[in-house]
Amino acid sequence: MVIVMNRHASEDEIMNVIEFVEALGARTHLSRGQEKIVIGVIGDKRNIQKEQIKVLPGVEDVVSILKPYKLVSREFKEQDTIVRLNGVEIGGEQPVVIAGPCSVESEKQIIETARLVKAHGAQLLRGGAFKPRTSPYSFQGLGEDGLKLLKKAKEETGLYIVTEVLDAMDVPMVAEYADILQIGARNMQNYKLLKAVGKIDKPVLLKRGLSATLTEFLLSAEYILSEGNPNVILCERGIRTFVEYSRNTLDLNIVPMIKRVSHLPILVDPSHGTGRRELVIPLSLAAIVSGADGLLIEVHPQPERSWSDADQTLSPDQFALLMRKLDSLVKWLRNEESVIYTN
Ligand code: PEP
Ligand code: MN
Repeated sequence: MVIVMNRHASEDEIMNVIEFVEALGARTHLSRGQEKIVIGVIGDKRNIQKEQIKVLPGVEDVVSILKPYKLVSREFKEQDTIVRLNGVEIGGEQPVVIAGPCSVESEKQIIETARLVKAHGAQLLRGGAFKPRTSPYSFQGLGEDGLKLLKKAKEETGLYIVTEVLDAMDVPMVAEYADILQIGARNMQNYKLLKAVGKIDKPVLLKRGLSATLTEFLLSAEYILSEGNPNVILCERGIRTFVEYSRNTLDLNIVPMIKRVSHLPILVDPSHGTGRRELVIPLSLAAIVSGADGLLIEVHPQPERSWSDADQTLSPDQFALLMRKLDSLVKWLRNEESVIYTN
């Protein structure tokens, strides 16, 4: 349920509505948009009747949201969410590029990668310190030492850090080093972890689960928002299908679909989405055309030597080529946008 406040509603009237609803046992979420002030009502709504609320001072309308996800829906918030770090906007006009190795391996490797991705125009650095590996015998990441190396790379280059957190217990530690905390595909439905990152004041990059539907994906984001963290960035990273020529099937359908039903930004990860470096450039471009707000790309100074995901990791030259192509595409799209994106 969403309570739309009158444009001229006073602060007292807004507070009065919130107190009224909470006294009846539900929780509220206030959202001050450019055009509207809305109060989302979530949780136990058994005692709440629309008619009672409609007559409260300052209330313009009370609307039921029929979808299972509420706070992430366009019905709750019409304008796009833009996640802002100082100087970088995710979900704004320009697509962002988050690039770096699959795993942090050494100081030399992460700093060299940070420098090269920055030189080619990436705004954020990725790199896993805690790695969710399919096999327990594979490299599991450097842990906190890896986070310290990411911090060094940030000091050297000024790039913001995106890194994965695997466990709810590690959230405070990872949040000390990361600018954006990543929840990996395998953890998309780890509700304890989602609740834990919902309580922090740093943005969260939520990757789609290997077989998650759009509704499940958005409900996972809803967990984070409902705990109070509005800065969620979705990321399509490919799903499991019957195809055998690629690691996953990158589901670009979901990008414009998410844009219709949700206000959250969505990135695309063609590295994990394809698992093959020769497919990464074409799928990156396709992702941007589909309306994605940016890309997550694996890059390594010597991809064949990567400790993880070598097959899908771009070389410095390939990354440079991708960034050049992206630049031309973005310029072209700016002129063509009205032709491509119709409702
Ligand atoms: C990653 O981005 O490092 C990663 C492990 O991806 P995913 O969770 O999408 O498999
Ligand atoms: Mn990887």
